Amino acid sequence: MELNLVMLGPPGAGKGTQARQLRRAFDIPHISTGAMLRDAVQAGTPLGREVGAIMESGGLIDDEVITRVVTERLAHPDTSGGFLLDGYPRTIRQAEALDRIVAGRAPLVIIDIVLTEAEVIRRLASRMVCAECGTNATGEGDVCHDCGGPLVPRADDREQVVVNRLEVYRNQTEPLVRYYGGRSTYCRIDGARLPDDVTADIVRAVESATRDGGQGGSGPGSGIRDPETS
Ligand code: AMP
Repeated sequence: MELNLVMLGPPGAGKGTQARQLRRAFDIPHISTGAMLRDAVQAGTPLGREVGAIMESGGLIDDEVITRVVTERLAHPDTSGGFLLDGYPRTIRQAEALDRIVAGRAPLVIIDIVLTEAEVIRRLASRMVCAECGTNATGEGDVCHDCGGPLVPRADDREQVVVNRLEVYRNQTEPLVRYYGGRSTYCRIDGARLPDDVTADIVRAVESATRDGGQGGSGPGSGIRDPETS
């Protein structure tokens, strides 16, 4: 059965960390637009040269440019059983474009990971990523658990850039909560807990959303809250 997941949530909410777990749990490709763009910057492609400075500043790249990248990626046959989008959509125009791209496919299941701004800032200030493979560092030590590469702060986690990214999130991306909030496959997840607990909540919410159109997963203790009441 096709499973088309979209991860929402502010920077630092744990979208990337959760996406890596969910990719394994559901056996669908993890498509991170941020990672694709960082690869393009590193490889010096025309796309990378176009977007590098915007990414460094914490701004968003053009809707049409990123939508073209995502359209091409979702046409790849490895998404026939579904996909997990991380970092797209980030604006209402992107969300509208995504609805057009997936028309006729299984409905989008939206996972919105909720975290306060204070917690976002605290997390991003201490986030380290692997300079070799880009994985977020977890646990102790100063080398990557996956590939042994050196750990460095992410270029766009500097304080002023974090402030910009949060403002961009508030202005451009948070309106997506209203865009998707009325759908039965929209799931709000409390991100301020241990990663494994968040993963378990997401898996439960996805199973519920795909089983009965999302009506069954928002009870007490499920980690999912009604967008109207929270
Ligand atoms: P991320 O790793 O998802 O935080 O993305 C890192 C940066 O890539 C963002 O701050 C943006 O500059 C750019 N980016 C990633 N996805 C998008 C998108 N859907 N729309 C516009 N810019 C994006």
